[in-house]
Amino acid sequence: MKELVILSGKGGTGKTSLTGSIAYVAKEKLLLADCDVDASNMHLITSKEKLHSREYKNGFTANVDAGLCTACGICEKECAFDAIHINNEKAVVNEMFCEGCGLCVRLCPEKAISLSEMRVGEITVYMTRFNKKLVSAMMDSKRERSGKLVSEVKNVARDEAASENDEYIILDGPPGIGCPAIASLGRVDYALLVAEPTMTGYHDMVRIHELIKHFRIKTGLVVNKSDINANMRRKILEYGSKESISLIGEIEYDDAFIEAVRRNITAAEYSERLKDKTMKIWENIKEEIK
Ligand code: SF4
Ligand code: SF4
Repeated sequence: MKELVILSGKGGTGKTSLTGSIAYVAKEKLLLADCDVDASNMHLITSKEKLHSREYKNGFTANVDAGLCTACGICEKECAFDAIHINNEKAVVNEMFCEGCGLCVRLCPEKAISLSEMRVGEITVYMTRFNKKLVSAMMDSKRERSGKLVSEVKNVARDEAASENDEYIILDGPPGIGCPAIASLGRVDYALLVAEPTMTGYHDMVRIHELIKHFRIKTGLVVNKSDINANMRRKILEYGSKESISLIGEIEYDDAFIEAVRRNITAAEYSERLKDKTMKIWENIKEEIK
């Protein structure tokens, strides 16, 4: 089984629509996984039905039994993370700051504090309209640990793909170069960059490629909206050539991307031209991965 991650360094490059389009045109058995856990949206354009979902918990947080708390203030005084305060004569935990170290649990004279596992988000497995599974996750608001949630999405994806005898896992990568992007790159066989020829598009591509280089992952490039700026297109292609990034395909500007999103479908479903383009891109990717 081969794993491929599709990244762009930022949103809005058509990456998710292209990823969904590949799943649509591919004849092979494959599984999709949406690693943009802060704003997952692959299910909106590909899913047919929800198969199952479960909570993802990671780390611990303190909980106060208000009925037992006497507001002695020991926990507030001793917490090194400034995560617990007396409010209205009761200790109250700020989960954003609580590191789950357990010190307050040990120090509380009334045994009013306990630790519980912290819910980070929810992981859902969908069936897509293309009879390929999609693993997606949504992180709860005000939660951190998005890198860990991405890793868990990949674990679930690997289990699901193994049970289906899938040949490929295609990961829709998160934006940015932080923990989620780093987590998405672990143990993948191939990275595909989707870049658009603008100054910011160029810099986003370079930033994410600098990260990919640390992982020594073979990398390809798709230039989307390739005809909107000839100079920036040339600059992107020159960078790709200098860095030994294979040019996998170019897609000229096409309103079909926007129209497809409006209809909650992939670009390849909406446009025959984009379907043909996507098929060529997928053939080129397979040549690169094998
Ligand atoms: S140490 Fe226990 S009793 Fe004292 S304020 Fe904290 S929770 Fe309340
Ligand atoms: S578990 Fe640790 S970090 Fe959390 S409130 Fe208690 S002492 Fe502070």
